[in-house]
Amino acid sequence: MTAKRTLIVWMLMLGASQVFAQSQAEKDKIRELELQRQMERTRKITMQMDSAVRLSEEGHYEAADVKFRAILKTIRSVPSDLTFHFGKNSFFLGKYRQSVDWLNKYIQLKGTQGQYSDQAMEWLAKAESELLKENEKEAKRAAEVLSGDYYIDCGPTGKVVCPTCKGSAVIVKKNYFGDVYKTCPSCNKLGYLSCDDYNKLLKGKLNKAE
Ligand SMILES: [Zn+2]
Repeated sequence: MTAKRTLIVWMLMLGASQVFAQSQAEKDKIRELELQRQMERTRKITMQMDSAVRLSEEGHYEAADVKFRAILKTIRSVPSDLTFHFGKNSFFLGKYRQSVDWLNKYIQLKGTQGQYSDQAMEWLAKAESELLKENEKEAKRAAEVLSGDYYIDCGPTGKVVCPTCKGSAVIVKKNYFGDVYKTCPSCNKLGYLSCDDYNKLLKGKLNKAE
């Protein structure tokens, strides 16, 4: 090989290595930018979370709830601290099922060693007990006997004074301009209902044109 040829080969190799170095630098740059973006995202979420936690601690549970929900919408994975704070805030809103759900998440993630583990277990116990009370109330309500489930005997006349208009056959509706009188939608100008219609009305099944 001549000296000239050797030189050309050397120059080519040098060029190639420069191109390689350049693309590597670009890759590093892109990775660095991506890392910065990620840190910025994390910083923003942390700020939003701090502000939501502050609202919750000050007793503004609804406002805190709105913030927590907004954070949950924007993030891809939920930080464990958020599961605790959101679960605790849910308790104060009376959303006990939701509270139990999120507090359980925290305990599953952190066990007994987490920063909020003790508090999480305390609030979880409270939420579970409230949830139990609620379920009992619901069961009682389901067992209640209500008049709407029965056909009411209206007596020998077979008529009942219309409960909607109290017999006047008109109803008063208030609007922007004042009182507006309208024909009663239940009894059709009669002031009374047949016993069948009365029973339908009680069940919310009386459909007459307004
Ligand atoms: Zn009526």
